[in-house]
Amino acid sequence: MFLRLLLSPTIGRSALHRCPAARTTMSSFATSSNAPPPTPSFANSRLTPQALSEYYEAQFDSKGIEKFSVRDPASGAEIAALDLHGAAEAKIAVDRAHDAFRNEWNPNRVTAQARYDALVRWERLIRENARDLATLLTLENGKPISEATIEVAGGADSVAWFAEEARRIDGDVMQGAKRRQRVMVLKQPVGVVGAITPWNFPFSMITRKIGPALAAGCTVVVKPSEETPLSAIALTYLAHEAGFPKGGVQIVCGDAKAIGAELTGSSKVRKIGFTGSTAVGKLLMAQSASSIKRISLELGGNAPFIVFEDADLDRAALALLGSGLRNAGQTCICADKVLVHDDVHDAFAEKLAEKMARLRLGHGLDKSTTHGPLINAAALDKVEAHVTEAVEAGATLVVGGSRANPGEGLEGHFFQPTLLTDVKVDMSCFREENFGPVLSLHRFKTDEEALEIANDTEYGLAAYFYTSSMRRSWTISEGLEYGMVGCNDVAVTGVTTPFGGWKQSGLGCEHSKYGIEEFLQKKAVFLTF
Ligand code: NAP
Repeated sequence: MFLRLLLSPTIGRSALHRCPAARTTMSSFATSSNAPPPTPSFANSRLTPQALSEYYEAQFDSKGIEKFSVRDPASGAEIAALDLHGAAEAKIAVDRAHDAFRNEWNPNRVTAQARYDALVRWERLIRENARDLATLLTLENGKPISEATIEVAGGADSVAWFAEEARRIDGDVMQGAKRRQRVMVLKQPVGVVGAITPWNFPFSMITRKIGPALAAGCTVVVKPSEETPLSAIALTYLAHEAGFPKGGVQIVCGDAKAIGAELTGSSKVRKIGFTGSTAVGKLLMAQSASSIKRISLELGGNAPFIVFEDADLDRAALALLGSGLRNAGQTCICADKVLVHDDVHDAFAEKLAEKMARLRLGHGLDKSTTHGPLINAAALDKVEAHVTEAVEAGATLVVGGSRANPGEGLEGHFFQPTLLTDVKVDMSCFREENFGPVLSLHRFKTDEEALEIANDTEYGLAAYFYTSSMRRSWTISEGLEYGMVGCNDVAVTGVTTPFGGWKQSGLGCEHSKYGIEEFLQKKAVFLTF
């Protein structure tokens, strides 16, 4: 019955939109209330887009400078217009950060306890203003308010974790090469950190960089994505309220290339922490080479999700929706390539389709929305191109597959949650990050085949598999070439555990007891007596 709803595997792009069967399946989507986008409200008048724009613009003397718009991706409406800064402001910020590292935030003057205290104050302010921060995040990123609220809480957790880490920066005492010699190994902050962050987690990607940097005793200049600068400005404002020196935590918004070149080129910046695409990560790594900076990279992914024949299919289907469609599929650890054992493939696809029919597209501030828009027109074009290419090359469109307009005033960048089967391993929707709400299913028959396809990628960020076999839990976990592996689970992040990719998904790690090490350098002090 279910399979009869499927579209012709050879259907073309225009035909896809005309096909009655496709319309039947697509129209099964619920959309939110059809009412105009809810009006945002803020309890703290200092956290409105207008107040944050003014706060940001007061950091630099840039009257008359060109502006850029920050837009709500659900409605397309302008939320704020900010000064478009570049290399000159980045240089000013670096000089201030360097000065703060020498003076107000000098590790010889500011004790570990004082760093802990300031971070705890910042954490408290984040939690107290969580509702406003989540509203801002939803407005500029589009994710549902429930997801934004979780992200803000996760950001506060990061700050709390690194507050504790500030008091645990210990060294070592070692024996020297000579008889009367002992060596102390000190851990000291690297200095000024340049942090460049993406739009998909505009809040938590910043706290997991600023948190450890400040805990270690560094100062930071953050360049957030032009798409989502308001969350970053709000965090900076609250950090200043918490007592961090203004030069200790700064933000520069605007021309990414120019700001990136200044941060990577300056000899005063001693470390770059970057989250974003692999292409930009490679560029920043190359640019940082001239001054041999430390660099941490959290880059793109192409996560496999393997469903073995002994898996709990309901649990796996629910988890796949959570992982693959989270933030409308715009997550670096989203499941991109779904490998399903031949014996359970059809039953699994049917369960997915049933659950997907209950999803609701809409504005993120509407509480009934389960899925918001994509970030911009380019993202929408990419996802549509991936789906069209797959269908034209023989994939079967089971659910979704089109752009959407879920209600009045929602002319933004919506794409229907989409399920494709009969996907081949060389299709873009399977081999590349979709960064959109697309689940691509491919059948397999043996464990070896599944592992080989899962590992056949330049990426190595996160991977997931579902099985009830103890043997497979070990063999597949050990066989997957990824930095994070979820066995019967897609929750592979948390402050206590390392987050980082293998291969071209990154260098270094964030969170956990290892995270702060990225912001410290060792010094061996030789005591001869
Ligand atoms: P992106 O294009 O690489 O942008 C990331 C950041 O780099 C943004 O602030 C961007 O600024 C800036 N940027 C762009 N070009 C630059 C340049 N030439 N020099 C310096 N900075 C530059 O990535 P995105 O599209 O925002 O984010 C999606 C990507 O991030 C995906 O590949 C995703 O997998 C990855 N990601 C990885 C993780 C992880 O932890 N591994 C987490 C989240 C996202 P503008 O936006 O202002 O252009």
